[in-house]
Amino acid sequence: MRRLSVILAICLTLVCTGCAPAAGQPSGERETGAAAALTEENASPLSTGAAPPGDIAESDTADSVTGVLDNTAGADMAPKGTAFRTESPEIIASAGNTASSAADKPIICIDAGHQGKGNNDKEPVAPGSKAMKPKVSSGTRGVATGKPEYKLTLEVALKLEKALDNDYKVEMIRRSNEVNISNRERAIQCNKADSDLILRIHADGSDSSGVQGMSFLYPSAKSRYTKDITQESLAAAKVLSEAILRETGAKSQGLKPRDDLTGFNWSKVPSVLIEMGFMTNRKEDRLLSMPEYQDKIVKGIKAGLDAYYKKSG
Ligand SMILES: [Zn+2]
Repeated sequence: MRRLSVILAICLTLVCTGCAPAAGQPSGERETGAAAALTEENASPLSTGAAPPGDIAESDTADSVTGVLDNTAGADMAPKGTAFRTESPEIIASAGNTASSAADKPIICIDAGHQGKGNNDKEPVAPGSKAMKPKVSSGTRGVATGKPEYKLTLEVALKLEKALDNDYKVEMIRRSNEVNISNRERAIQCNKADSDLILRIHADGSDSSGVQGMSFLYPSAKSRYTKDITQESLAAAKVLSEAILRETGAKSQGLKPRDDLTGFNWSKVPSVLIEMGFMTNRKEDRLLSMPEYQDKIVKGIKAGLDAYYKKSG
């Protein structure tokens, strides 16, 4: 009996020491991978946004800016990044190809322009800038429908979220009109989500009721805040505009560089603002509220993204 229990004890010891390295190894790899990824995340904001930390610290932007610029940003960004990245290897191990393509999905940040109540409190138009602009303007309003822009942008954004569900990872800035999120905060939220592209959904207004058509805005190369994202934003805007105009048959107001938009100036990732049409034009206003036309806009955006990211079907 004693011999048997000794043998048993030896066996148990062997089993335990045998499984220890096997269990330890993958988790060690995961940690290393996550750490490397976080270092990369921190590196790019630091290199592009190093200029103005002194000024920012004194303003009310300090909390959010810390998240972007400061090295402690790692703490702020870590939970989300770590959760996402540690999850991936496990899925890949169990599900193979399906998961690796899931992990490769482009991340699209959808920002439905404006909100139920505009916020005229001011915020810096760019990191470290003394120029201030209202946090969120109230937007335009349909001359025929009476619909406020913020409702229209959310209608389209929610449809777009559904349409992108399979092939993209979507970060939604808002799913309700009852929010209070400034343009700077929207950009920072998209940055933190590690977005590949920010899509800002808006509609236009003009003093002239005859003006109609779609505009595609992108961050100007003239702005020192956005010159690093200009090229990719413009490339995306081009492909998107072609697809959306083809799908909707809308008149084109062209591609427009902007250096005065808070939402662009705080973006660290490529960004395109789609002005879907003029709510101050009676015909276009009505069209923009038609579900079929909204579906065309969404289909066009999806087709544009698919082309931009070279997906088939
Ligand atoms: Zn707008």
